[in-house]
This record gives sequence, C-alpha cells and structure tokens, in this order.
Amino acid sequence: MNVTWADPNVVADKAKQWTEGQLACRFNKFHAWPPLKHGLTVVTQGPGWWEVRQWCTRRCGVARKAIFNMSGYKVRDWRPDYSSDAAKQYRMLDEDGKSLGRIGTDGQAALFLVSMTGVTVTQMPEET
Ligand SMILES: [Zn+2]
Repeated sequence: MNVTWADPNVVADKAKQWTEGQLACRFNKFHAWPPLKHGLTVVTQGPGWWEVRQWCTRRCGVARKAIFNMSGYKVRDWRPDYSSDAAKQYRMLDEDGKSLGRIGTDGQAALFLVSMTGVTVTQMPEET
C-alpha cells in the first residue's frame, strides 16, 4: 500500500483552521466517544437491530455508527461518518475533495507547533 504523507506546511495551514477540539483529536489520533447515555449518542431501532450513532465529545464533527443485534452483538462494525461541515473541515482534503495525504511524523511535529500557540509554558529554573 502506498502512503502519501501530507506536506508539513499543508498540515500547519489546515491545523490553523481547526478548533481546539479538532486539534486534540488530531494530536491524540483518537476521538473521544461519549457514553451511550449521552446527548451525543443517538440510537435508532429497526426490526431486530439497533443502530448506535455517536458524535465525538470534542465536537470535532466526526461521528461513527455501528449496528448491534438485540442479543447485544455487534453485527456491523463502527464506521466513521464525515458528513458534517465540521468534519469536512477536519479532514485532510483540498477544495475538490482530493486527499492531501496522511499526517506523518513531520506533519505531527507541525501540528504540535500549531497546537502550542497560546499554551501556558512553565519555565524550568536555570541550574546554577
Ligand atoms: Zn474527535
């Protein structure tokens, strides 16, 4: 499989548009899914199944959904849903919807530097 890594400058440009929550999801490489009893979880019921749909609690815009049968078994695995406007902004896509590449080591470094803007830093005392 060929992986295209995003240009760190492109990652930085994207990151400057992201919310703090979106930066956190990118930085952690993981979303913060809510509990089932939560306003950001919506369960719909059909004949013999439940569809569980959840939005990330950092409000990055990304959702996921899976289907469980009435015995509690997951019968369709979690799939991401990027259909919200926020999720579209979150994705590494250009205006035409073409991939700008994945965030690799260099992209993560650029992302960290953008995320550090406004962070309170404690200076270590100089050793004498
Ligand atoms: Zn998220």
